[in-house]
Amino acid sequence: MSFRPAIRPGAPLLRRDITHLQVGTSPGIVVSDQPGLLPLLRLADGARDVARLAAMARESIPELTVDVALLMNELRSVGAVFDASRWSAPGRRGVEPEARHTDVGGNDPALLLPRATFRVAIHHDAASRPIVEAAQSILTMAGVVDLDSTDPQLLVIASCGEPARTVFERPILHGVDHLPLVIDEDRVRLGPFVRPGRTPCITCHDLHRTDWDRAWPAILSQLARHTLTMTPPAISATTAHAAALELAVEVLAHVDGLAPRTLGRCLAVGPGPDDRASWPIAFHHRCTCDLLNAA
Ligand SMILES: [Zn+2]
Repeated sequence: MSFRPAIRPGAPLLRRDITHLQVGTSPGIVVSDQPGLLPLLRLADGARDVARLAAMARESIPELTVDVALLMNELRSVGAVFDASRWSAPGRRGVEPEARHTDVGGNDPALLLPRATFRVAIHHDAASRPIVEAAQSILTMAGVVDLDSTDPQLLVIASCGEPARTVFERPILHGVDHLPLVIDEDRVRLGPFVRPGRTPCITCHDLHRTDWDRAWPAILSQLARHTLTMTPPAISATTAHAAALELAVEVLAHVDGLAPRTLGRCLAVGPGPDDRASWPIAFHHRCTCDLLNAA
């Protein structure tokens, strides 16, 4: 089958010794050299298909005697050459770097196609803006470009301090998947990631908290007030970026049709950029959210 050969992504094409070439250095794929192979591989830019390479070789590399199609298939089977049409094609613009990553990892880049059209919205306050902007940068690089949708498939709700619970009413009512990110002093909590009716919700979270902190409902009722007194958070730049990374990982897992780690869990980042804590949030027996699905 024809394909568009490209040298293994990110791997330089090198001469190893008089009779061998090498692709990459970690540790590198060794290929027996033969007359005309090096100039042929230099033509394998991912834009030309095998038939075009063969035609160019007939014209400009007379010393090449092997069948180009067979050779390219062989080089592809050992990982020295990849099929660039799996990354760069109409409809795959914006996800090319991710597609190369997925392909080199042995997975199908077609899994990434939903990223180009997936609709995300990220609501945030002033204090959470730096984390959100860093996460948006990662998501854009990963090919998720619709991050300000008015009709989101996923809503991220970022705030410094616990948000007023009213912000969850609309996504729950409309069945929109949502993920809270809460800056809490010198750390950042993600989760629970809520698929309404299918996974434990923020009310489950609050009822569990009320089980061990009976003042929690009284605390929650004050969160909506604009008179709250709060000093800006104590998040270091590296921890802010670590939290942004974790947020992006959760969003990408969801967009790719996988299960984010924060489904039925909370994940805390900080105070150090390497510090993580995680705990489960189960359905609470007094919450009715699981009835949404049964209805
Ligand atoms: Zn619930």
